[in-house]
Amino acid sequence: MSIQRRRSIPVRIGSVTVGGTAPIVVQSMTNTDTADVDATVAQVRALARAGSELVRITVNTEAAAAAVPHIRDRLAQQGVQVPLVGDFHFNGHRLLKAHPACAEALAKYRINPGNVGRGSKRDPQFAEMIEIACRNEKPIRIGVNWGSLDQDLLTRMMDENAKRAQPLDANDVIREALVVSALDSAARAEALGLPRERIVISCKVSGVQDLIAVYRTLASRCEYALHLGLTEAGMGSKGIVASTAAMAVLLQEGIGDTIRVSLTPEPGSDRTREVIVAQEILQTMGLRSFMPMVIACPGCGRTTSTYFQELAQKIQSHIRQQMPIWREQYEGVENMTVAVMGCVVNGPGESKHANIGISLPGTGERPVAPVYIDGQKGPTLKGDRIAEEFQALIEDYVARTYSRRVS
Ligand code: SF4
Repeated sequence: MSIQRRRSIPVRIGSVTVGGTAPIVVQSMTNTDTADVDATVAQVRALARAGSELVRITVNTEAAAAAVPHIRDRLAQQGVQVPLVGDFHFNGHRLLKAHPACAEALAKYRINPGNVGRGSKRDPQFAEMIEIACRNEKPIRIGVNWGSLDQDLLTRMMDENAKRAQPLDANDVIREALVVSALDSAARAEALGLPRERIVISCKVSGVQDLIAVYRTLASRCEYALHLGLTEAGMGSKGIVASTAAMAVLLQEGIGDTIRVSLTPEPGSDRTREVIVAQEILQTMGLRSFMPMVIACPGCGRTTSTYFQELAQKIQSHIRQQMPIWREQYEGVENMTVAVMGCVVNGPGESKHANIGISLPGTGERPVAPVYIDGQKGPTLKGDRIAEEFQALIEDYVARTYSRRVS
């Protein structure tokens, strides 16, 4: 079943297109101090290597703004061309004006209408940022957030609601205020001269149902490219499940041109997790292919050892490690499926459906592991080196099956 994407205006962000008929773009954000050039370069490189197609960095201080062009140069020297997006709040107008090299080095500016300035300062400060974007021919993301919604606008809308004969629920008013804030800001940006082909919109909230409702409304009222993401999704499985639940519903309806999974990293864990989760959401939904998929059974009473879990993990890590090389050498390798199954019940069947699969012996079965290649029975592995031999068979399959790219 193919998904009908919502019509949106394509936006060029450096070398990447968001919206229109372009594939849904995966993006991420660093959590380093941007003023720390070494740490930020290392993290942007890691995120890009994991597959992030846009990387956002915080630009919150003079030192951070001054560091941006150096970060861009250092990444270029290392062959990392991923477009950088600057995240501005409160003082963005000043930083962009005082650091023209930063304004030039960034591929897009994220502006939060709720954090541009209060009262009489808001409009001129917003205008200043838009004028700099126009001068530098940069796109912007108008990123409205539940937690930093324009309070003047919200107060006005709450007051208007209170005067209605049948006032709406306060939550409905907040949701409407998010959408109005984003669309009014986009209209103001256009009035200031920014073409609509340079505007991306997001309205991030932290509740699954709120996100779905807000984006459905947004999608029905505009053709701007939409950045999708649940803000403050949380940690570990909760963050992954909440993000997936919200985004999957919207993506299924064709809503969303670029996604970010905002996971709170567990202490010491890898920031690239959010990139992998975003890719897995898109790939498991059949929207894009990034990486060969490992299909592994959950295991049950028929698998008393953890061998097949370890093998599945080993194969998954091997694929992840090889992918940057494979991607360069082999066309279509990202569509490959590999099955690692725990016993004879579903093992041969599932393995036959995969490009290459192995059916390990369950408890009480003969200690042999038949391999299936393109649905046909292949070699049977046994002994202590099953993992290494299966890995070698995968390498061989990749080299034989996926044509080399002509450089
Ligand atoms: S394939 Fe075998 S081991 Fe795996 S879940 Fe099914 S019955 Fe259990």
